[in-house]
Amino acid sequence: MTRSATRAHEPRWCDSCGRAIEWRAKWARDWDAVRYCSDRCRRERPGTTDRALEAAIVELLATRSTGATICPNEAARQVGMDDWRALMESARRAARRLVVAGRVEITQGGVVVDPSTARGPIRIRAVHTVDEPTRQRRRRR
Ligand SMILES: [Zn+2]
Repeated sequence: MTRSATRAHEPRWCDSCGRAIEWRAKWARDWDAVRYCSDRCRRERPGTTDRALEAAIVELLATRSTGATICPNEAARQVGMDDWRALMESARRAARRLVVAGRVEITQGGVVVDPSTARGPIRIRAVHTVDEPTRQRRRRR
């Protein structure tokens, strides 16, 4: 086995649905360039509405207290207005892409879950990076 065979299995996530991409032998040569998990995801790559949903999720979470969660339908309602139901799956995909980007985590029953395999209702929580200098300052007081 060569180094490239090992590298081939480094995890990748779909640019469209945000799920982990299953490694396939046919992709061994250009694994690093694989961006979508399926032909469907390639066809339905994120457009203006999808980016608006991502922005809505980030925006909604910014207005909540630390550790608070939102439901994907809140973002869908903000972007889709009366047609929000049609955007529910898109909102979930947007949330998964934000997980890949390190912006949010997805929870079920208050526990962080793997977005690639989670089934049923999910909630979205912002990832808060620890501000180390601030913490040190507080500790000294
Ligand atoms: Zn996909």
